[in-house]
Amino acid sequence: MLKYITAVLLVLLTMSAPAQQREDGIITGLGSDKKIIALTFDACETKTPSYFDEKILSFLINNKIPAAIFLSGKFAVRNESRIKQLLKYNFLEFENHSLNHIQHSEKLSDLDFTKELKGNETVIKNITGRHTRFFRFPAGNYNKQKVKLCRDNGYEVVHWTFASGDPDKNISAKKLISWVNYKTKPGSILIFHINGRGYRTGEALPVIISRLKKLGYSFVKLEDVI
Ligand SMILES: [Zn+2]
Repeated sequence: MLKYITAVLLVLLTMSAPAQQREDGIITGLGSDKKIIALTFDACETKTPSYFDEKILSFLINNKIPAAIFLSGKFAVRNESRIKQLLKYNFLEFENHSLNHIQHSEKLSDLDFTKELKGNETVIKNITGRHTRFFRFPAGNYNKQKVKLCRDNGYEVVHWTFASGDPDKNISAKKLISWVNYKTKPGSILIFHINGRGYRTGEALPVIISRLKKLGYSFVKLEDVI
């Protein structure tokens, strides 16, 4: 009997709560009061060629930390061989951050936006062999209609619970650590940059993660909880 109760409790504990969704249909949290966190990274290229921040990658790999990496098309193509090497780590997932990383998706026509969404889906599918399920708007700019287009195409839009501030060149690792640790709550979706534009992220992340682990937090892939 005790065994049965334990089994039922375990099932209940591992069931995921519905993701926290704002009125506009954007997911900004995991909707859980359990100490789980989704670690997410943007991997986009804007004006100059961008590559993976290997310091962050090796930390994630060595510690087997689940994370979602949102790829833009240009970044994915430029880093194709590296992405292929990363496919063996099943705790990493690759998601959709648009084809050309146009800063204002809300200004695009429906047709042009659909090309940004589906075009990048094809690019990533060709590299990884997997379909993407989640979309993140470049620079976080969107409108209702573009969110609808994402959902019509089978996507959930996943943003973040709070901005880490890591693309700020003036932020110190110390500030990044204290800010992220202060703001993180059960069910938070954290956002950082893994394209070389999270200037202090590689330095700050091991401390952030180790502090969160000490507080009893664990890390989940988006695809496992949404
Ligand atoms: Zn981006």
